[in-house]
Amino acid sequence: MAEQETYYEMLWDCPQCGTLGLLGDSHRHCPTCGTAQDPTKRYFPKPGEEVEAKNHQFVGADWRCVYCNSPNSAAAAFCTNCGAGKDGTKPVALVADTAAALPEPVAVPAPPPQRELGWVRWVLAALALLVVGLIFLFSSTKETTATVAQRSWAREIQIEQMGRVSDSAWCDSVPGDAYGVSRNREQRSTRQVADGQTCHDERIDKGDGTFVKRRECTPRYRSEPVYDDRCRYSVNRWRSVRAVKAGTQESLMPVWPSAGNLNANFLGGNSGVGAIGSERQGARRETYVLVLSANGKTWTCNVSESVWSKYQDGATVPLKVHLTGGADCASLQ
Ligand SMILES: [Zn+2]
Ligand SMILES: [Zn+2]
Repeated sequence: MAEQETYYEMLWDCPQCGTLGLLGDSHRHCPTCGTAQDPTKRYFPKPGEEVEAKNHQFVGADWRCVYCNSPNSAAAAFCTNCGAGKDGTKPVALVADTAAALPEPVAVPAPPPQRELGWVRWVLAALALLVVGLIFLFSSTKETTATVAQRSWAREIQIEQMGRVSDSAWCDSVPGDAYGVSRNREQRSTRQVADGQTCHDERIDKGDGTFVKRRECTPRYRSEPVYDDRCRYSVNRWRSVRAVKAGTQESLMPVWPSAGNLNANFLGGNSGVGAIGSERQGARRETYVLVLSANGKTWTCNVSESVWSKYQDGATVPLKVHLTGGADCASLQ
């Protein structure tokens, strides 16, 4: 960057005679009492009250005389106040701009120190023991010989009917067989658009009684709605309208119920597309139940058809029973 920067005066207060707001570059000594400037006590002026350092040439941060503490230009080989040499001195420390700094973060109170609570450990140990005990209780079983007291089954077929369904979707994802489509403009999402930038001046201590300003900018955004076409439409779809059922009361052996006369009014011959009102068989469901008893206790088990067929009324069944009293129906084979 070209050194066309504007330099501004840092300020300092004379500790000897109390003169305030002396200029860091122009007043190397107090104009009232002649006291040398203390470079560690320099400060930034209030924003808006900055004084430009005219014709300032930046040659580097000042060095501080080890004998009389005076700040000296980086270009000076000897102290302008007492004539001591530059050798072995250090550049003055730079000052941070507190006016621009963010407020101090609120101190989060530290959590209270953990007290030694012996009894908590005992409670935790007891709970762990209890959990282990419960797991044992629920997982261990004992073998019993039970008798089949009752058997039942149920089978069900859903009957579906082709019907007109209303729905809506973004117009780029409307199903191909939709009809009666109407369009509306609706907000689909939001997008972030650039909206200028937020800037502030950073003030940087150059260490020679002056500071410079640097413009810091970050891009700013605002959200904007994004509109798209929303489609409302009708579409013909299969829906469950009723179910046909069969069960133990009709037959001892499981059979599928008759679907009855379905309205198979298909459009387009073998295309499989149903006209509104046409019907077909849908999902099937079956359940098989064994009621088992032993020693005056009974258990109801949902089992597979093969297990159910294997055990007739009055048959004996090896059954695993949990210590809590429940039957392990999954163990039935
Ligand atoms: Zn003074
Ligand atoms: Zn000196």
